[in-house]
Amino acid sequence: MNTTFHDELLRYAESLGFGDLHIKLDHATDLCAIVAIHSTKRGPALGGCRLMEYDSMAEATRDALRLARGMSYKAAICNLALGGGKTVVVKPKQIKDRVAFFEAIGRFVNELGGRYITAIDSGTDMLDMDIINTQTPYVTTISKHNGDPAPFTATGVRVGIQAAVKFKLNKDTLDNVRVAIQGAGHVGYLLAKQLSELGAHITMCDKNVENLQRCVDEFKVQTVALDKIYEVDCDVFAPCAVGSVLNDQTISVLKASIIAGSANNQLGEMHHGRVLFERDILYAPDYLINAGGLIHAYAEYYNNSFEEAEEHILHIADQLLEVFELSAREKKPTSEIVDSIAASRL
Ligand code: NAD
Repeated sequence: MNTTFHDELLRYAESLGFGDLHIKLDHATDLCAIVAIHSTKRGPALGGCRLMEYDSMAEATRDALRLARGMSYKAAICNLALGGGKTVVVKPKQIKDRVAFFEAIGRFVNELGGRYITAIDSGTDMLDMDIINTQTPYVTTISKHNGDPAPFTATGVRVGIQAAVKFKLNKDTLDNVRVAIQGAGHVGYLLAKQLSELGAHITMCDKNVENLQRCVDEFKVQTVALDKIYEVDCDVFAPCAVGSVLNDQTISVLKASIIAGSANNQLGEMHHGRVLFERDILYAPDYLINAGGLIHAYAEYYNNSFEEAEEHILHIADQLLEVFELSAREKKPTSEIVDSIAASRL
């Protein structure tokens, strides 16, 4: 990283209101990991451990900063006693020994003394969290608690879609509602399952052919090419794959009147929330509608009642309705409404 870029990155961290940023290099295991802690004002910073390929350390650090801040906002909007953090691990060409690799991550998390709690994220699973748990108690979504967050995230997104359909289309059921889901992974698959049981017509795409075929076989979904998903003639577009999918190009071709999906950081830039508002497309803000997994992980970590967590997840629908109503009343984009509520709690 050259000095200019280094300065730029630190300025970026500062502009997002960051407290601390930690980097661990462990040559024995080829580990290169970043823990970004955005805020601990509401409680310890909880956020997943992402394992992905990155072109540079700078790119990985930016991702950690962006995602950690998103976790602070997610915890705040859900009124959880948590701050926001994230681990980003730069995926090496080959992980020689996955146990040693995740043990090193566990030691790294432990050194932070509980200011940060880690969990499953893209590229990691419950078994990885179990390995981390051999080194530190500051981890949730472990297999002992059957802690896969995807089913809870999918339920939150499903009730969020129901709320949006009620608000925008004045429909009490999802019968014959047309939903285009981008991504047939953990959340996309479970969302398709719940929506098809409620009578929705589903179109999906995924670059992983096996994931997509499973949804065709089990739920008889229609499929489209990756780049055609935005143009599908549908009521709801549900991004459940990657971030930054709502940008100038995609918004201009969208036919859906509702956007409600699980992906983090769906807006390419903040102003795209306003672009959607001006096009009269109802946007269910990502970090509220996809908070089901976090709500469950929080309950798991603190041994709270799972029944209460489930009620809290179902309550995402009521929270969204309040945001939609405020947005209509104040003539402000939903993205700006949730940002100002969350920011006021941080
Ligand atoms: P996943 O990795 O299991 O599934 C993602 C799927 O998207 C994969 O099948 C992948 O092949 C597909 N994909 C990738 N790029 C694509 C593209 N350009 N077009 C179409 N498909 C593409 O991830 P997941 O756990 O299902 O999570 C989905 C999204 O929701 C991610 O953005 C994740 O960050 C977010 N999220 C997940 C959870 C959770 O509980 N799993 C919680 C909050 C947010």
